[in-house]
Amino acid sequence: MARPPGAAPAAGCGLPRAVESAMTDPAAGAASQAPHTWRPGRFMVIAAHPDDAEFGPAATAARWIDAGSVGWLVCCTSGDAGGEDPDADPLALAALREAEQRAAAAIVGYAGISFLHQPDGALVNDLVLRELLVREIRTFRPDVVLATDPEALFYDDGGINHADHRAAGVAAVDAVYPAARNPMSFPWLARDGLAAHKVRRLYLFWSNHPTVRVDVGPTIGRKVDALLAHASQIHQPDRLDDRIRSWAAEEGAPIGATAGEAFRLIVIDEDADEGPDSATDVEAETA
Ligand SMILES: [Zn+2]
Repeated sequence: MARPPGAAPAAGCGLPRAVESAMTDPAAGAASQAPHTWRPGRFMVIAAHPDDAEFGPAATAARWIDAGSVGWLVCCTSGDAGGEDPDADPLALAALREAEQRAAAAIVGYAGISFLHQPDGALVNDLVLRELLVREIRTFRPDVVLATDPEALFYDDGGINHADHRAAGVAAVDAVYPAARNPMSFPWLARDGLAAHKVRRLYLFWSNHPTVRVDVGPTIGRKVDALLAHASQIHQPDRLDDRIRSWAAEEGAPIGATAGEAFRLIVIDEDADEGPDSATDVEAETA
């Protein structure tokens, strides 16, 4: 069962409900699925808010990076509405949250991060955002993009998916296909040297329909550490480790892992015509 984040609190996107409530004993269920061990050479995480990438696929990102992958993080907004005070300065909050996100990204090991500075709480999958994302994809040229599953409006385990998460997810999908690979999409980009690029896979997180699970036992601690870097958003840091590990245990149970992260995998292009270094077995690399 997928355990996507649940309903958002009044401000920001906050701590996922699933993290608050996950209490499943992973030992209770036998493994029914093999761990997903493919990994990309280069991957990009596209997130709506600072901390989404950490509540989302941080442990998988860390695992891939440890095995030699290169990762890049794109934050569509800077989380400028992620507080409780209506008189707070949103620009000051954005600056704080960008600093927190940079610290978290360093813990995970990303090669870099881009902030697109779209408005928090008002993210729209329009042509402006699509072009910004196509620029990012064509610049970094990832094999894989990880994004929130845009089809999740209501989570199977309760709660509503934040509108920004849905917008960022569908914007990422639309940027990957067909815009990034079509030289005639935003043709000034190709004319300026940003050549079309094929992203071959999408890994959608916080999905109601996960199809693969990564064993993140070796890196779940990095996910917790990275989340703790988002101090303005973590209201009970002393409880975070237990919550994240409990959530990950539930995600890992179907593959017999103590910690897992689940994704809905969309393969756009098979890898048969790619070189030997384009895709690697993470287990072999880290063994
Ligand atoms: Zn969020």
